[in-house]
Amino acid sequence: MSTANDLIQLPPQEFIRFLRENGISRFYFVYDRKAKKVLPSHASLQPIADFIQGDRRDFMQHEGIFFQVTPKYDVLQAAFVHMTVRGAGAGGVRYWKYDTVEDYLRDGLRLSKGMTRKNALAGLWWGGGKGVMAENPAIAKSDAGIRQFIYHAYGGLVTSIRGCYVTAEDVGTNVSDMANIFDTTRFTTCIPPEVGGSGNPSVPTARGVICGMEGALDFLSGNTLAGKTVAVQGTGNVGVPLIKFLFEKGVSKIVACDVNPENVQRAKTANPGKNLEVQIVDLGDQTIIAAACDILAPCATGAILNPETIPDIRAKIVCGAANNQLGDAQRDDALLHERGVVYVPDFLTNRMGIVNCANEQYGYISDDPAIEKHFSRDWEHSVFQTTQRVLRQSRQTGAPPAKVAMRLADELSLQPHPILGHRGQQIIDSLVANQWHEC
Ligand code: NAD
Repeated sequence: MSTANDLIQLPPQEFIRFLRENGISRFYFVYDRKAKKVLPSHASLQPIADFIQGDRRDFMQHEGIFFQVTPKYDVLQAAFVHMTVRGAGAGGVRYWKYDTVEDYLRDGLRLSKGMTRKNALAGLWWGGGKGVMAENPAIAKSDAGIRQFIYHAYGGLVTSIRGCYVTAEDVGTNVSDMANIFDTTRFTTCIPPEVGGSGNPSVPTARGVICGMEGALDFLSGNTLAGKTVAVQGTGNVGVPLIKFLFEKGVSKIVACDVNPENVQRAKTANPGKNLEVQIVDLGDQTIIAAACDILAPCATGAILNPETIPDIRAKIVCGAANNQLGDAQRDDALLHERGVVYVPDFLTNRMGIVNCANEQYGYISDDPAIEKHFSRDWEHSVFQTTQRVLRQSRQTGAPPAKVAMRLADELSLQPHPILGHRGQQIIDSLVANQWHEC
């Protein structure tokens, strides 16, 4: 009998060998609410069920996790379904390199729980879920035919779990991969616009970040963006429209940086005659963090707010699009708070990526009110209002903002879908009853 450590420390490809030796191609772990236990589909996987159940940080009673190994190319694929009280789990599929099964499981658990919070805080009637696929180092990652096979198989996995999870695009997955997924499942969003998808969400994401900044400024001092100085890290798909919107709002100066000279040039070209200083920097150069500015907007990579960088921040507000800005969610949220830097949580302010695509199947309206309300001042779940609610509660309770936002999100995630109720759990129960892993 394997121990948890034996199995979870295996690299994914060796774990796949173990699965094949045991005749397993599909398997699951579900949470039995009555027994309060994680149950595996196969007795030989009990050690992994114990590991998941023992995780205190991210497990948070995931309703179900469904795995398969692709019949060719040996890619481990999974749909992590954290919570479906507000609706089916919704979140993108990540295609990434993992050293061990433990890394893979931890990433899936963390990301799907994060989607429950992001979706609930945005007032979406969707739960939280995430797809995760482990790169097989032995196959050509960019080969179009191989990718087509892998993403078709992944769409098949999503179809097989009958709509308790709806997938979308995430890191490592591109537009043609999404078209491949759409070939084999209806339970996907973020499909190409040519077949009815919503298209690139970067401009709405930039608008959402602006609303977060405005909410924070208004809360702190009744001020607007006019006359402010903003530092933007990353002049990519979100950074460039963000800079344009900031100038439209009357900021007096923007300092920005990027590691990619083409993207630096894009930012310059889009803003002729503006007070914009944009620099090419080396990867790992974090000098922008220490820029003299009112607002720091991280729009590049994650984990840039940490004990090394936080002491250097001169901005009063941090508000940007990058995912997972805090190196350690608890520690760095508290560190920023202690320093008196107001942090607008990333999962609040960068919500438009998922908002833009989550309701694709309900069709489109120009200046869609279902989207526009997120940028309004009066809708209770708008970015502006939610930012102010979080900062107000943070001031009242002394708790740092990300902690407050998570608490608010957790409360909202327990509100059942007004029409469908907790249907995702019923779907999961039926998958187990029908022995999904044998199908
Ligand atoms: P992008 O890849 O188009 O842009 C990121 C930019 O950051 C690139 O130009 C890259 O060269 C630059 N960069 C990387 N490392 C850097 C560094 N150390 N210093 C300076 N620049 C650096 O990505 P994007 O779509 O603009 O997204 C930006 C961030 O926002 C990402 O973290 C993304 O996950 C997150 N996000 C984006 C969306 C969206 O709608 N695009 C939605 C939600 C969250």
